[in-house]
Amino acid sequence: METSVWTPDSWRRLPIAQQPDWDDPSELDAVEKELGSYAPLVYPSEIRELQSQLAKAAKGQAFVLQAGDCAESFNDFSADVVRNKLRVILQMAVVLTYSSGVPVIKVGRIAGQFAKPRSSPMEKINGQLLPVFRGHIVNDDEASIDARRPDPKRLLRAYHQSSATLNLLRSLTRGGFSDLSRVHTWNQEFVASSAEGQAYDAVATEIERALKFMAACGIDLEREETLRKVDFWTSHEALLLGYESAMTRYDRTSKTYLDLSSHTIWIGERTRELNHAHMEFFSGISNPIGCKIGPSATPKEVIEICEKLNPMRIPGRLSLVSRMGSEKVQSVLPKLISAVQQANHPVIWSCDPMHGNTFVSENGFKTRNLEQVIDEVRGFFLVHRSLGTWPGGLHVELTGEDVTECLGGSATVNEEDLDTAYNTICDPRLNARQSLDLAYRVAEMLIG
Ligand code: PEP
Ligand code: MN
Repeated sequence: METSVWTPDSWRRLPIAQQPDWDDPSELDAVEKELGSYAPLVYPSEIRELQSQLAKAAKGQAFVLQAGDCAESFNDFSADVVRNKLRVILQMAVVLTYSSGVPVIKVGRIAGQFAKPRSSPMEKINGQLLPVFRGHIVNDDEASIDARRPDPKRLLRAYHQSSATLNLLRSLTRGGFSDLSRVHTWNQEFVASSAEGQAYDAVATEIERALKFMAACGIDLEREETLRKVDFWTSHEALLLGYESAMTRYDRTSKTYLDLSSHTIWIGERTRELNHAHMEFFSGISNPIGCKIGPSATPKEVIEICEKLNPMRIPGRLSLVSRMGSEKVQSVLPKLISAVQQANHPVIWSCDPMHGNTFVSENGFKTRNLEQVIDEVRGFFLVHRSLGTWPGGLHVELTGEDVTECLGGSATVNEEDLDTAYNTICDPRLNARQSLDLAYRVAEMLIG
């Protein structure tokens, strides 16, 4: 008789979507075994701390800002790229916290955000039919048959890049760079000259004055850890379950399994089928987790997801990340929220205003318009305000670089500008200015 006991590998007996077509499963097997012997990337105590912070967001006492690349790249990996991404996320968090007075939990789509679900297994490029690019943890984005061959060794490289990224993030957030007294230095040059950059500078100046005031009152700022250090958490879409289960370890303190590849992970819109492999794997780990919810989701489905992923109803354990599109958010979201509320599930509702608003521009770029992105967030806030529920978070794709991938913003990016610096390997990201612009608009919504 088949047992239904959860193990880090019990997902293997279930149907699984969005997996690469590996040439040699035994090679993948060997790589997964090797990963299983590697050191964890994060620590159980960190995961417990994040869980307790997220419990506050579930109760309306904190806001989650989750942001980073659509897909991290093996080719575009440097200390600058990581630092600039951290910078813009810290800037957004400062704007949100300073304006609203609500604590902001900062989570990067970083240090492991490599695997991508795709809408089709093949794509046509310049007349050639190729296996689709599935993220650098699987294959290369270059348009050739050879580059697109899934290579299990890439899992090891993803682990090592995640480890190096985390190492950098840990040193950047432990003081120095992320010390609140250096709030001015997070404004990059190309941002500082813009309207948002100047508004940010004004906030930074006020924060500095407040710090000086505190020091003058006799508070020893050097000893105030919370002003000098930043909690910055990592996350990614856990798509390749062989990688995730290899990184999953038994934690003796909590007597549960934790996926130690990242502090938190999420299930994508395309892999959230109830009785499939991803739901099974996620149901048994005790990290805080997310699940994307698109416009086709029904109240019944969402309740089933809550029951499966958070049967004990632990506040902050489960975030539902709605990605409806600006046109549908106000019609689709209310009935889902109401159903979850009636069933007494203490979820964090977060808004991903990116994935429901993607389109191809007339000149052939996959893009998003900042105004439409803001519109979806506005709809999300309106729905929560009218139901009396807490709009608990924002989930966005951005980069700290000066790219031209999304349209709009105060230094307007138009369709004809898209090819100036269209550098993403997957979905279009907000650049640092557009991100800051968004933070100001969301801050206004948070104040109400
Ligand atoms: C993503 O977050 O990059 C993504 C693919 O999202 P979704 O699963 O919501 O489509
Ligand atoms: Mn994406």
